[in-house]
Amino acid sequence: MTDREYKLPVPVADDESEPFYRGAKERKLMLLRCSSCGTWRMPGRDRCVDCWSEESEWVQASGRGKLYSFGIMHQQYHPAFADAIPYNYAYVELDEGPRLITNIVGCPNEALRVDMPVEAVYDDVSAETTLVRFRPVGA
Ligand SMILES: [Zn+2]
Repeated sequence: MTDREYKLPVPVADDESEPFYRGAKERKLMLLRCSSCGTWRMPGRDRCVDCWSEESEWVQASGRGKLYSFGIMHQQYHPAFADAIPYNYAYVELDEGPRLITNIVGCPNEALRVDMPVEAVYDDVSAETTLVRFRPVGA
């Protein structure tokens, strides 16, 4: 999908999020986990909120989860989204436990349901950036 013109704002990876975006480019959902106690760090932090360890590791997640919550955006807050509304924003609870904010694709907004099983898809929005979105399992 890199030949399309993507007009929406694109996140810029920093030192802390670079492994996440590099993983997305390689079709892997990467999450940060505490090396001492196993607690996930979502979003990434310097210290574990459970044991205060500074030790962590990037781990490939399953890419599967369920739709925890969602909304449909009808209001245009940024000019770049004029052609995108109405669009969904979703809170996906991964099988590993962490929740992340994303979009659901491959499904009409009207068909979105809380708890529906979803899986990660990787959207190459530019030559440099791949976004992680989710689709219903089997879509
Ligand atoms: Zn910990």
